[in-house]
Amino acid sequence: MATTVTSGASSTPPGKAPNLAHHAAPQAAHHAASHGVPLPAGVTVFERGWLSSNNILIQGADHCALIDSGYCTHAPQTVALVRAALHTRPLDWLLNTHLHSDHCGGNAALQAAYPALQTHIPPGQSDFVWEWNADALSYTPTGQQCPPFRFDALLQPGSTVRLGDWQWQVHAAPGHDPHAVILFEPVSRTVITADALWARGFGVVFPELDGVDAFDAVAATLDLIESLQPLAVIPGHGSPFTTVHQSIAIARERLNGFVIDPIRHLQHAAKVLLKFKLLEVQCMERANLLAWAQATPYFAAMLGKHFGGHDFAHGVDQLVQDLVRSGAATVHGNWIYNN
Ligand SMILES: [Zn+2]
Repeated sequence: MATTVTSGASSTPPGKAPNLAHHAAPQAAHHAASHGVPLPAGVTVFERGWLSSNNILIQGADHCALIDSGYCTHAPQTVALVRAALHTRPLDWLLNTHLHSDHCGGNAALQAAYPALQTHIPPGQSDFVWEWNADALSYTPTGQQCPPFRFDALLQPGSTVRLGDWQWQVHAAPGHDPHAVILFEPVSRTVITADALWARGFGVVFPELDGVDAFDAVAATLDLIESLQPLAVIPGHGSPFTTVHQSIAIARERLNGFVIDPIRHLQHAAKVLLKFKLLEVQCMERANLLAWAQATPYFAAMLGKHFGGHDFAHGVDQLVQDLVRSGAATVHGNWIYNN
């Protein structure tokens, strides 16, 4: 049976006023239909939100695997969801599509909960995981957290991996993250796209924040996903969907907008990082928000490029006002609240 379980934060994109009513309560997770999306037998999607990525549990005759583990502040909920689904069975494998904090923040907690767990990561940053370089792994530059975890094996692009009762192809999917992979199961034609393709867009193109051209890589990854001719997409955030052509068209249009006006991408990225912080802490005093932004290298660099000579506080205030206008935040006095 394939199911979707909705839990945690809502699936509303940053800037679109998510509802966090069930934020940290595992028991609030409720079973829902898989939105009419046919998924392979044994696949359960824990639909999380925007702070935590979705988690995909795949149960087979021989072993159980989980793909991506959410953000660290939701780690107890991630472990609870897995335990509730598996009952007495152990979780055998944990795979990460990429190493952003919202996709592997629950790794350490799952490794503690299941001591025999084998963790597979894409090869690109394995040395940094080995030595735990929070800078190179993006946690410091994004102002995010991720508890250190170990890994046991590499998820090599070009290989196949048996998850549940199915063989999944591992494909390199650079763009949003140069080291990301996506997984494709050719019998059901199901693709797990992480942040390379959502129903309405894709994740921030992080290499661009470092001044590295990556919009072409985003386009190539969209071409790759299209060439696989998937019938069902399980994205990193939001519900599984079958509107593949429509979603790829939306993603290409969005990408073209960024290619024509890269500053728009930087501004979008700054808002996403700010919204992510608000999702994490729920509310913050303006002075603390400013201090966080100043201490967050990506943020400081983006504001520097976008606002040029204007002062930093003015730039942050403008971004907060943008979030307020779109309903993603509220300001009361000196406090900024997540919506
Ligand atoms: Zn990501």
